[in-house]
Amino acid sequence: MKFVYFFGNGIAEGSGSMKDILGGKGAGLAEMVLANIPVPAGFTISAEVCDYYYKHNKTYPPSLKEEVEHNLKRLEEATGKKFGYKNNPLLVSVRSGAKISMPGMMDTILNLGLNDETVVGLANSTNNERFAFDSYRRFIQMFGDVACGIDKELFEDKIKEIKNKESVKFDHEISIDGLKWLVEEYKKIYSSQNKIFPQDVSEQLWVAIDAVFNSWMNKRAIDYRRINKIKEDELLGTAVSIVSMVFGNMGSDSGTGVAFTRDPSTGEKKRYGEFLINAQGEDVVAGIRNPYPLEHLKQISQQTYEELLNIFDILEKHYKDMQDVEFTVERKKLYMLQTRSAKRTAKAAVKVAKDMVNEGLITEEEALLRISTDQIDQLLHPFFDEKSKKQATLIAKGLGASPGAACGKIVFSAQKAEEIGSKEPVILVRHETSAEDVAGMAASVGILTAQGGRTSHAAVVARGMGKSAVVGCEAINIDYKNLQFSVNDVIVKEFDTISIDGSTGEVFLGEIKTVIPSGLDEDLAQILKWADKTSRLYVRANADTPQDAKTALEFGAKGIGLCRTEHMFFAPDRINIVRQMIVSKNTKERQQALDKLLPIQKEDFKALFRTMNGLEVTIRLIDPPLHEFLPQTKDAINEVAKNLNITPLELQETIKNLHEFNPMLGHRGCRLTITYPEIAIMQTKAIILAALELKEEGIDCIPEIMIPLVGIDEELKYLKNIIKQTADELIKEKNTTLHYLIGTMIEVPRACAVADKIAKEADFFSFGTNDLTQMTFGFSRDDAGKFLFDYLAKGILKEDPFKTIDTQGVGTFMKMAVEKGKPANENLRLGICGEHGGDPESIEFVNSIGLDYVSCSPYRVPVARLAAAHAAINNKTKENLD
Ligand code: ADP
Ligand code: MG
Ligand code: MG
Repeated sequence: MKFVYFFGNGIAEGSGSMKDILGGKGAGLAEMVLANIPVPAGFTISAEVCDYYYKHNKTYPPSLKEEVEHNLKRLEEATGKKFGYKNNPLLVSVRSGAKISMPGMMDTILNLGLNDETVVGLANSTNNERFAFDSYRRFIQMFGDVACGIDKELFEDKIKEIKNKESVKFDHEISIDGLKWLVEEYKKIYSSQNKIFPQDVSEQLWVAIDAVFNSWMNKRAIDYRRINKIKEDELLGTAVSIVSMVFGNMGSDSGTGVAFTRDPSTGEKKRYGEFLINAQGEDVVAGIRNPYPLEHLKQISQQTYEELLNIFDILEKHYKDMQDVEFTVERKKLYMLQTRSAKRTAKAAVKVAKDMVNEGLITEEEALLRISTDQIDQLLHPFFDEKSKKQATLIAKGLGASPGAACGKIVFSAQKAEEIGSKEPVILVRHETSAEDVAGMAASVGILTAQGGRTSHAAVVARGMGKSAVVGCEAINIDYKNLQFSVNDVIVKEFDTISIDGSTGEVFLGEIKTVIPSGLDEDLAQILKWADKTSRLYVRANADTPQDAKTALEFGAKGIGLCRTEHMFFAPDRINIVRQMIVSKNTKERQQALDKLLPIQKEDFKALFRTMNGLEVTIRLIDPPLHEFLPQTKDAINEVAKNLNITPLELQETIKNLHEFNPMLGHRGCRLTITYPEIAIMQTKAIILAALELKEEGIDCIPEIMIPLVGIDEELKYLKNIIKQTADELIKEKNTTLHYLIGTMIEVPRACAVADKIAKEADFFSFGTNDLTQMTFGFSRDDAGKFLFDYLAKGILKEDPFKTIDTQGVGTFMKMAVEKGKPANENLRLGICGEHGGDPESIEFVNSIGLDYVSCSPYRVPVARLAAAHAAINNKTKENLD
């Protein structure tokens, strides 16, 4: 079996595709050799050896020693130098590197192969004694720190000492005698630590190789893999690359640098990098001296500089991606030491992907796969300035329910938020929120609740508004009376400033600067256009108001998948009419209230249809239980009773009558309109009249009327008849035609089981996965936050099912509904309007079961558009493999 792969002088046994066994670094070096880029020769010991090492009690495959020696010979031939020879000695670096770039493993050792004899040889062969001893002291220091575990401060102290003695500021100014003194002092450090610095170069090499393999299992590396969720069993381990040294510390015609082929923060096609003259390896990153911009290389040689730029182009064309490189110039000669695809900001990712399509480097699909949905999300919401965040105090963590960073003074009531929110940023802190708080939420920059999960009122409404929210933050104890909350010993009072991160769920004390992203700029708009072209699913938005609808359109929604009509009921000019309807003692009184509501609702729908200008709009009939519209506190009850012209006692009586033990399973959804068909009739009239009046203005719209919470086909049949009759009468009166649809939400498990029957009555299904998840698990949406934490922590659930569709359970019901529904009604349109409609993993799932569209909150639309494209591309790849 082959364990060692040689590269150099135009040949490479490995290649860029062998990251698994050569590590990112080794594969990159081999690939650069294949692309005719100057790289110092070397060889890579396969990560399979690391695997063997740990499976065989830290021993090596028997053939390894011979293979390494053989390749060392090849390296000597390639470089014309000899390892351990006094005359013109070969020096190498020993570098770790796994498939995935992983800080935490062993640091690189440079200049290996130097000892008391070879250092003299190096001085002679290069005619540069200063350089030889500088390399030697660097080697002894690195070998001590990295391979022998000697505290590096001990070495640093000595450097400080000699610099003081010689009154110089920088390492490269230390005299030759000073360097020689350092070498001797360093050796004394080894003895004082009971360690030996090996003079035998072969021993040096094997100690270093051992150290690399051992570092795979050191604490830093294990922690890094755990924190970043890197699965150990999917990796063989680390490879070891042994590379002949090239020297940037040979004087003023040498140097070392790092560079990005494009700007990693903006993505602009502008070389970006740093360079140090007369320096080696890590000097640039270590901050020993301030590095210069890349252009400084021209001072050494214009030609070398141009060669570097040319290599950038070759690399980009070769890898078809922006690269992050390390290089060294030895006496004007350029060598590349590392290349990898560069880390970049979200903004840069979008710009680079778009530009590379225009430059013909990658296809549109490749560009789409280069950008993650998280990056899109980042571009649409404010985020914390990293520096400022590092200085802040984290006091608690809840569920990150609506992304974005926010910072403001805290208030404890929606009313206060409304009063102050227009003047300065406030964060509304509540146990939970309810419909009454919506205006206060709108006036706040962020929302923090102690209770509730991802589909709690606070979470859903905040997402709809595109506002940052942290919910279910159980650690905070809210004291409404004293207007403060506490976390352990920390007390935070009204008007104190806090900062919250709605992506991570973090809550910080004090102010953290936030950065406002650029939003849907030209680059992102272009990428998303390509996404739409690629997708099978299209994206609609959940929008209740013309304002929401406008936002949705700006973000590229193709329609509205869910308009929740009850949200319209809470506006101040109509809530009393709604309440009047609820306290009515008979149908006649109820009808009077409904008659007042009708023109108002009609105008609402007209405004919405007008904004959407002919695009699809799904309107859901009233859904929540009626008690949600009634006041709760005594004061409010008194006031509302007065407004309604009834006694507080009468109002309390109604509230008592409407009380339910399990409101989530109670009198809501279609159950309400089955009891009170007149509500469905009023809403149907409002919708149809709005459409008819707009038609007269020349705006065509096809309203989609959606009936919630259907579990029995007879429910749908009953309501559909009423709706149809009402609608057709109005259309006939106007002596015109209007196409409209009647469909249902699929959110009760029973509906999935009888989907064939329901489909015969429905023009469309829209999966209401919030309720469907709630009812499938039997987890209350509003209370699940309390125990889901434990479920996730104990690994009982891998994922919050309210965030990502539980494909095994809830998903099986959905699939059943599709498989039964579609054959029963081949024109059946399929969508999803639950919160999962904006979740990339869930989108991948609904793509696979054949839905036609997803609907999500307006601010999530761009994420969903990209996720839909990713789903289509991945699906295609999967089909090709099958
Ligand atoms: P890291 O993974 O920390 O980047 P590297 O193995 O890339 O570690 O090396 C650390 C530094 O040493 C880099 O600046 C690299 O360019 C430099 N270096 C590594 N090998 C050599 C070599 N053979 N000659 C010159 N410089 C080298
Ligand atoms: Mg490196
Ligand atoms: Mg529902």
